[in-house]
Amino acid sequence: NLVLFWHRRDLRVTDNLGLSYAQSRANSVVGCFCFDPLILHGDDVAPMRLHYLLGCLQELQENYQRLEHPFLLLQGKPEQVIPNVARDLGVVEVVWNRDVEPYSQLRDRRVTEGLKEKGIEVKTVWDQLLVAPEAIRTQSGNPYTVYTPFWKNWRGQKKLDPVVDLQPGGGLTEGQKKALDRLEVMPLPSLKDWGYGEPGELLIVPGEGAAQEQLQRFGDRSLEFYEQQRNTPSIEGTSKLSAALKLGAIGIRRVWQTTQEAIAKSESDKSRQNILTWQQELAWREFYQHVLYHFPQLADGPYREHFKHFPWDNNPQRFQAWCEGKTGYPIVDAAMRQLNTTGWMHNRCRMIVASFLTKDLIINWQWGERYFMQHLIDGDLAANNGGWQWSASSGMDAKPLRIFNPASQAQKFDPKADYIRQWLPELTSVETKDLLTGDIPPLVRQACNYPLPIVNHNQQQREFKQRYKQVKENL
Ligand code: FAD
Repeated sequence: NLVLFWHRRDLRVTDNLGLSYAQSRANSVVGCFCFDPLILHGDDVAPMRLHYLLGCLQELQENYQRLEHPFLLLQGKPEQVIPNVARDLGVVEVVWNRDVEPYSQLRDRRVTEGLKEKGIEVKTVWDQLLVAPEAIRTQSGNPYTVYTPFWKNWRGQKKLDPVVDLQPGGGLTEGQKKALDRLEVMPLPSLKDWGYGEPGELLIVPGEGAAQEQLQRFGDRSLEFYEQQRNTPSIEGTSKLSAALKLGAIGIRRVWQTTQEAIAKSESDKSRQNILTWQQELAWREFYQHVLYHFPQLADGPYREHFKHFPWDNNPQRFQAWCEGKTGYPIVDAAMRQLNTTGWMHNRCRMIVASFLTKDLIINWQWGERYFMQHLIDGDLAANNGGWQWSASSGMDAKPLRIFNPASQAQKFDPKADYIRQWLPELTSVETKDLLTGDIPPLVRQACNYPLPIVNHNQQQREFKQRYKQVKENL
């Protein structure tokens, strides 16, 4: 018998819970991936992320071939394509890993209905999370809305070890081979096929092999220094695994196991603390996925009432300057140029530019959220929405209002202005202290072809606070 396994954001044959289940049910697994036009042509597609996706798919295809299981690339509406392919292949069951995103859940319900109508079994499991969203609740039985108590509960939950990898296939019958040959499948497309230009060099190598190497390198070199290094954007102090985690080029159980092994080997409280801090970041990832699952309305708007009708300025020229890294605030511009060039931005800088967009430019955080999705290699609805709502103070954050001062952030986290100089080469000759405070004389700016500040931070933060106070009073 044959089982169809539908890959979505789990592009690997190792430590894949759903795939491992599928294999336990049949001699041969047919893997598939379906290019969904709604996702491919949505307004939050990042060419860099698609580029990464295609690289992952290429390796996935090769891995299936090596293990002698068929792998199909399909295209069209999954609610039509998946049930039809399953019927044509005569599979007994279709298996996939669940997702938290509202669109994915709707799509999966439709696919399930289509399969059930054809009398085909469906099995779905949670693979991308260490703890399933239904598994933990507050004492009063509600989903968590605050990170710290979530973390305390989450960390005590039992976590699975990595599951068995896909094993070599048991061969197909002649009838199954014929059914496969009759299917309409596609070759691996290129970005050009969808009308996207070359987005530039991929600085994060796609595929599960590369993700495993990256995890190993990070575990060997940086994990035990994580807490000290994670806030310095000029160094490689973080794992850079976000794209792999987003598209499932690496299994979360394997990642967790690496932290457990590192704790067991660590020789000091300090290094254990560093590892624990990284575990907390993994828990942030799960927190945002859990809240999106329980509160799908987060995808479309703010969590806090007073941000529903906030009087944003939404000035398009200022937004454009922010997008292009031309605000005249060096740390903000350096970060935006890193994003525009590489598709990745350091977490500290994501917080700085998000605070700047919302609190200094007084622009709706959803504009920034969309821009990030259109450029990030790791763009992920749950994490991105969570990060933006946190920065805008509109989300599930215990602190009511946060405003970052770009100058103090630069002084604290980029004290030698290495990061600023790396991304703003036109300012290389400017003195470090001026790069940090942003007090660069107009003539120097002109000579370097660098813009004047588009707003005044102190003035804008007073203005923002004033509006925030008024909105709260009117509630
Ligand atoms: P590491 O520091 O090595 O962390 C390990 C992993 O933990 C990450 O790969 C990621 O999966 C997870 N993680 C770490 N921090 C967070 C966090 N704050 N929230 C959720 N997960 C976290 N992360 C995304 O994966 N996709 C996004 O679209 C995204 N958008 C963001 C937008 C804003 C405004 C902010 C402030 C943060 C955003 N983040 C997003 C979270 C974080 O910035 C990135 O996960 C991190 O920078 C990725 O680098 P890394 O893999 O080296 O992280």
